[in-house]
Amino acid sequence: MVRHAIGIDLGGTFLKGGIVNERGELLETHTIPSEVHKGPERILENLLDTARHLSDRAKERGVSLSGIGVVSPGVIDPVYGGIAGGAENLPGWEKVPFMRTMEGLFGLPVSAHNDVTSHALGEARFGAGRGKRNIVMASFGTGIGGGIIVDGALYSGSIGYAGEIGHIAVHAGGRTCACGTKGCWEEYASIRGILRLARAAIARSRRAQTGARQARSPWPGEGAALTPEAIFEAARRGDDTALEIVDEIGRETAVGIGGLINVFNPEIFIIGGGVAAAGSAAGGLYLEAVKRHLPSWTLEFSLRAVELVEARLGYEAGIIGASVLVFEGINVHRDGLP
Ligand SMILES: [Zn+2]
Repeated sequence: MVRHAIGIDLGGTFLKGGIVNERGELLETHTIPSEVHKGPERILENLLDTARHLSDRAKERGVSLSGIGVVSPGVIDPVYGGIAGGAENLPGWEKVPFMRTMEGLFGLPVSAHNDVTSHALGEARFGAGRGKRNIVMASFGTGIGGGIIVDGALYSGSIGYAGEIGHIAVHAGGRTCACGTKGCWEEYASIRGILRLARAAIARSRRAQTGARQARSPWPGEGAALTPEAIFEAARRGDDTALEIVDEIGRETAVGIGGLINVFNPEIFIIGGGVAAAGSAAGGLYLEAVKRHLPSWTLEFSLRAVELVEARLGYEAGIIGASVLVFEGINVHRDGLP
């Protein structure tokens, strides 16, 4: 019999849920705003509402559930049944033992893990890493998160904190990071990091140009929002400054990826997140730039053995990753269960 689970992806903006079977197929989805600004009680209410809706839908479909998986930013403590810390964009959420609450309400085992780590697990089982046993994934968004699969199993570390690849220092004495140290990769290759280096390059090129050339500039004016999409799109159209910026992004990104390849010697390295999606939409310029710089930072034999690919699971990556936690019995809150 094919098993089913509820998978829920708790993000800073949306709570995305679904019913997933163990082949990774999504039978049903349900998305609502997570309303994190309204505080932890509201987040919990919304989380329970999502689970309740999906559990009702499962009953209507005659599907029995093996459990509920939840992925969230931060580090999960499955004994306490909630988040131990590290979820800065979900204020107050770390005091809430939501796993215990859900287990009591629904009478099902509840698994939970970090969102990017779970995304990597989903990619490993049903996405770009299918069939591979040694995988590293990096997700380039607001920050940089990661997931590591060693010999087919998710590597969580001694307290579940493994995969915090955004805080590898790549510039000694560099910019101060939110984590308190200096020169973290996240300060250079996340969306925040690449927009900073883009703004500097655009300012340099504006100073160097005058009159008509400046008027043809593809960049938004002062105060307007610059986005990864705008950078890659301008590069696709052949703008010199944009091409320079993309090359610099490629270098800052390859530094970290090369280091991870040297440490883990994976068969496949998956890149995901908003930056990768924007680069992909502009004809693969991002992946191309990273690949161009990778040989400078990677040991030759490891580089030859690895394939650098884009993540395949899109919007539903977190939901599918959450369901894999259930099917593989990862981070289950066992308090009170037989
Ligand atoms: Zn840091």
